[in-house]
Amino acid sequence: MEKIKVVIVGASHGGHQSILELLTRYGENVDITLFEAGDYISFMSCGMELYLEDKVTDVNDVRNFRPENFPQSNVHILNNHEVKTIDADKKTVTVTSASDNETKEYPYDKLILSSGVKPNNLPVPGADLENVYLMRGYNWATKIKEKLNDPAIKKIAVVGAGYIGIEAAEASRKAGKEVVLLDVIDRPLGTYLDAEMTDILEQHLNENGIEVLTNAKIEAFTGNGKVEAIKTSEKEIPADLVIQAAGVKANTEWLKGIVDLDEREYLQTNLPDVYAVGDATLAYSIPARKKMPIALATVARREARYVVKHLFEEVPNKPFGGVVGSSALSVFDYHFAASGLNSFTAAKAGVDVRVSYYEDTLRPKYVPEEQGNPKVSIQLFSDPMTHQLLGGAVLSTYDVTGQGNVLALAIQNKLTLEELAEADFFFQPGFDRQWSMLNLAAQQALGEEPFVE
Ligand code: FAD
Repeated sequence: MEKIKVVIVGASHGGHQSILELLTRYGENVDITLFEAGDYISFMSCGMELYLEDKVTDVNDVRNFRPENFPQSNVHILNNHEVKTIDADKKTVTVTSASDNETKEYPYDKLILSSGVKPNNLPVPGADLENVYLMRGYNWATKIKEKLNDPAIKKIAVVGAGYIGIEAAEASRKAGKEVVLLDVIDRPLGTYLDAEMTDILEQHLNENGIEVLTNAKIEAFTGNGKVEAIKTSEKEIPADLVIQAAGVKANTEWLKGIVDLDEREYLQTNLPDVYAVGDATLAYSIPARKKMPIALATVARREARYVVKHLFEEVPNKPFGGVVGSSALSVFDYHFAASGLNSFTAAKAGVDVRVSYYEDTLRPKYVPEEQGNPKVSIQLFSDPMTHQLLGGAVLSTYDVTGQGNVLALAIQNKLTLEELAEADFFFQPGFDRQWSMLNLAAQQALGEEPFVE
C-alpha cells in the first residue's frame, strides 16, 4: 500500500512534535519529509541562556532533536532545504536546496507548516553595524558566546526587556560585562507581569549591576563600522555589543497570497490538507477567548499534537481546545511563573479583568526568614462578573514556579476564585502554610478576612 506523504516545514518545536505524533499514531503508514531552511537541525533557543552561562553539556546538545534520532526509513529530515511555495492544486511544495542550489517539487498528501518567526532587527540607522546581534538560533547563540568570552567587549546593551532580553542581560552580567537593559515601555517584563512584581525585579536587576532604562526610544545605533553606542531620544549609551531582543516577525512572507494561516478553525489553513502551528500563527487563548500571539514552544507542541491527532478526520470531532500561555523565568535570585492574562495582555485583548495582589511568607511565621521562609507574591486576574480565573503569577526567591502550573490548570479548566480559594492542596510547614498560597491569594481576592496566625 502506498504510504501517505506528510510534508513538514520547519525543524523546531512544531516540526519535531509533528514527527513524534505521526510516528506514534500512524507508524509506518506515513512517509514523513521535513524541510528545514537552516543548516543546523533544531537548536533549542529556550536553552540559550544555560549555554551562555556554561550550564550545559555542550552547545550541540542544546537542541530538540538530531536527524539520527529518527533512523526510521519513512522519516526524511532535510536541512538547507527552503520551501519556496505551495501549489495547492497539484499538492506539491517547491523546495530549493542550498547545497546545490537546485529547485525541486515534492508531492504531499498532508502539509504541516511550522515556519516560526525571526527576531526583529530594529528599523533604525546602524542596525547593520558590526556587533549588533540578535538572540535566536544556533548561529547567534555561538556568536554571543564568543563575545561574552572576549575581554575587548566590556559594555553590552540589551534592547528589549522581555524574558529573552532578561536572559541576555543576566548571562552578559554573569560573564562580567557592564550591562544596560533598555525597553520602550515603562518597566522590564511589563508584558508578562504587573507593576507590583516588575518593581521587585527591576530593583533586583539594579542590585545585580544591570542598569535598566525604560521608556527608551531608540533612534540609532552609531559607530564606525562597529557599533559604539545606542542613541535614544534622551542620550547616547556606549556599547561594544548590542543584543536585540525586541520582538519577532512571522516567517510568512513566502506564503503571502498563497495561504492564510489563521483563516480557519481546527488549525487548518484556507487550503485543503494544509495545517499551520506554532509561532507563525495566532494561538487560541482560553482566558481571552480569542486568537492572539502566544509565541511559546509549549503552544507549538500542543498544536502539532492536535493537528496530527485529527489529520485524517474531514471535520475534527472537536476543535482545538486552546492554550493558556505559561512561562517561567529566574531573574538572578528571584523566580517567577506567569500564566494566562495579565493587565497588559488583557487590555490588549480587550478583556476586562479584576486584579488582586497578595503578599505573605511562604511558611508559618514561626519559621524565620533565614530558615527558608521568604516572601511570596501572587497576582490573580479574574473576570469581574463571574470570578473565572483568567491569569495569575507567582514570584519569590524560593522556587514557587510549580504553582504557575497549578494556576495554568485552574485557568484551563475555567475555575473561579471561589473554587481556587477552597481547592484541596497539601499543608506541611516545611513547604507552605495551613492554606496553600494559591488558596490564600484567592481568599484575599474575594475580600475575606486575612489569614492571621
Ligand atoms: P521556530 O522555532 O521559529 O522555528 C521555525 C523553523 O522553520 C526554523 O528553524 C526556520 O529556519 C524554519 N523555516 C522557516 N521558513 C522555512 C521555509 N520556508 N522552509 C524551510 N524551513 C523554514 N518558549 C518556551 O515555551 N519556553 C522557553 O523557555 C522559551 N525560551 C526561549 C528563549 C529564547 C532565547 C527564544 C528565542 C525563544 C524561546 N522560547 C521559549 C520560544 C520558543 O523557542 C518558540 O516558541 C518555538 O521555537 C516556536 O517553534 P516553531 O516550531 O513555531 O518555530
